[in-house]
Amino acid sequence: MTEFSLTLDEDQLQIQQWVHDFAETVVRPAAEEWDEREEFPYPIVEEAAKIGLYSFDFMANAMLGDSTGLTMPIAMEELFWGDAGIGLAIFGSGLAAAGIAGVGTPEQVMEWVPQCYGTPDKIQLGAFCVSEPDAGSDVSSLRTRAVYDEANDEWVLNGTKAWITNGGIADIHVVVASVDPDLRSRGQASFIIPPGTKGLSQGQKYKKMGIKASHTAEVVLDDVRVPGSCLLGGKEKLDEKLARAREAKANPKAAATSGKQPAMATFEATRPAVAAMAVGIARAAWEYSLDYAKERKAFGKAIIENQAIAFMLADMKTEIDASRLLVWRAAWLARNGGGYVHAEGSQSKLKAGRTAVWVTERAIQILGGYGYVREYPVERWHRDSKIMDIFEGTEQIQQLVIARAISGIRIE
Ligand SMILES: Cc1cc2nc3c(=O)[nH]c(=O)nc-3n(C[C@H](O)[C@H](O)[C@H](O)COP(=O)(O)OP(=O)(O)OC[C@H]3O[C@@H](n4cnc5c(N)ncnc54)[C@H](O)[C@@H]3O)c2cc1C
Repeated sequence: MTEFSLTLDEDQLQIQQWVHDFAETVVRPAAEEWDEREEFPYPIVEEAAKIGLYSFDFMANAMLGDSTGLTMPIAMEELFWGDAGIGLAIFGSGLAAAGIAGVGTPEQVMEWVPQCYGTPDKIQLGAFCVSEPDAGSDVSSLRTRAVYDEANDEWVLNGTKAWITNGGIADIHVVVASVDPDLRSRGQASFIIPPGTKGLSQGQKYKKMGIKASHTAEVVLDDVRVPGSCLLGGKEKLDEKLARAREAKANPKAAATSGKQPAMATFEATRPAVAAMAVGIARAAWEYSLDYAKERKAFGKAIIENQAIAFMLADMKTEIDASRLLVWRAAWLARNGGGYVHAEGSQSKLKAGRTAVWVTERAIQILGGYGYVREYPVERWHRDSKIMDIFEGTEQIQQLVIARAISGIRIE
């Protein structure tokens, strides 16, 4: 086990600086343009691929080659400090990669995760498709069905996915579908939909409040046929899991041991990384408003000379640092602590999401009228921050997960 430490090693310091430089010189200058265009920023993601930031290798090293667990949150904080919309355009494929790594066999991981990134000459994208119009927080209610066609060793998928990052423009879609609806979330499985598969199409593209450079759309699955090998984890494992789930249904006391739920396994792994994104947005707004408060004069002095402003900045800094500490703890525990005891991943996401929304709102307050107009970036940061309270589990769902973990009671 690697000791928990707040001191980053040489490699991590280098990665932090490398991502920061990219965020400062490439991402931030492009942020306003892509927010206005509301389009996927291909040229910027290509730049990220050229330096190796958008790549299977970076993801593999940051996730697996780091015994502290801190490299990923450090990189996410710097990238999202640059811009959250572009940051998510770069990180979005990582959700699909995590979905594959969470439940796939080693062979499936090696075959499909690199295809979520492509190469610097020809980037590819991945999408992780769980949510549906009537099943967001309640992932146990998924209606998308996967039916096995034994004669052809193929799976046939039908349904509609909602709010999917990179939905329809991705090369690899990872789709969580119900194999046995009676078993709710325990009857679900994940499937790879390879590039160019017939029957998969993009539905509506959403017009969003923030993170506009990230593409979010519906994904429609109409008699989509994929080979048996596209079932992540394999048929044997699924059959065993379903048998355990059926047994658990008949004997509820055994329910706790009836297998991993694919969507939940992925969310557990990605929550600290998403929380780190929120820390990045909050830090950007805090730094900007601190500088502004030192420059802006009112009543003959810099506004920071008023305690009302200086204390606000002090509180903002404290909330950001507290959030980062929870993120680092969760990330370290996920790698070293054998899992969470009190939903530490959810704690980090709950705190960091709230902090990002609050700090960016305070930053607007500090800039006054200038904070409210698009000429300055803080209104964008505030618009971007709100998603951190919604995706990868809403604020209330994080509270629910924490409440259940600390009480051992099934709070509703
Ligand atoms: C920009 C964007 C990108 C996204 N990207 C993806 C993606 O790539 N892949 C994907 O699968 N999904 C994605 N999502 C979907 C996202 O995860 C869901 O929107 C989110 O989980 C909330 O689901 P919902 O919208 O259906 O809200 P609902 O579940 O309907 O929730 C509505 C409100 O009710 C509250 N609520 C619900 N249940 C409870 C409860 N039991 N107790 C207390 N309060 C409750 C919620 O907290 C919320 O405040 C994305 C969403 C957005 C907006």
